[in-house]
Amino acid sequence: MLIPKTHPRAASLHIREKLVQGYRSGLVIEEGLIAHGRGEAFDYLIGEKTSKNALKAIKAAATALVSARSPVISVNGNLAALCPKEIVQLAKTVNAKIEINLFYNSEKRTKTIAHALKRNGAEQVLGVDQKFSRKIPRLDSARRVVDKRGMFSSDVVLVPLEDGDRTIALKKLGKKVITFDLNPLSRTAQTADITIVDNVIRGMKILIEMSKKLKKKKPVTAKFDNKKNLSQALVEMNNNLRRIAYA
Ligand code: ATP
Ligand code: MG
Repeated sequence: MLIPKTHPRAASLHIREKLVQGYRSGLVIEEGLIAHGRGEAFDYLIGEKTSKNALKAIKAAATALVSARSPVISVNGNLAALCPKEIVQLAKTVNAKIEINLFYNSEKRTKTIAHALKRNGAEQVLGVDQKFSRKIPRLDSARRVVDKRGMFSSDVVLVPLEDGDRTIALKKLGKKVITFDLNPLSRTAQTADITIVDNVIRGMKILIEMSKKLKKKKPVTAKFDNKKNLSQALVEMNNNLRRIAYA
């Protein structure tokens, strides 16, 4: 679809188009398109731009990733369709492993995602070879499987667009969990240590830049209160709603 640059919602339509292309090339499944739709609704409420509270969370996330012993970026179909280059750039910047983990698991889709990441410069992609599989205890669904070289032995995990059950399971395993989630009310947003309430397509770029800057100096872990930051996200959404409603 050709989207005119002057269209008032050009940015969000371009993002939607990426998802549709990802669906056509086998990275994304129908459920992923629906999950994206929920994200879009919340993106509308934050004015489709990165907010102050998101920047605060991104700074805390960059600090955690740069200081981590063994960070991992968990990749699903939507993330691979939206920002394959950024996944690889961030992994190189903070020295993180890249691991594919799908809610609706399929060997074929895992391979398609791994190829897409490699085409974008990834050297190693975990979660593909079952020889290295380990299981997260007390979690039903295919997502309990993790790679022993990656998420299983990691200390900090970035799990963008994640389902709540899995986030809770990762927390129980003692991982520090960072997520991108446009819905501040989701279980993932509420359970993670650091929730970035921003569209991953905007936020990842900022996270990469922030991590590059922090790498140059020794990052100091400042206090970050996720619940407080999530409340601020809700207050900002509420203010936007009032502005729109009473304009
Ligand atoms: P939970 O399982 O955490 O309670 P959920 O079941 O409502 O959440 P899921 O489909 O499991 O939602 O997770 C997808 C999440 O990703 C949703 O909260 C959605 O708002 C968010 N999301 C979708 N697209 C984007 C995007 N591009 N950037 C950031 N967040 C997104
Ligand atoms: Mg869910």
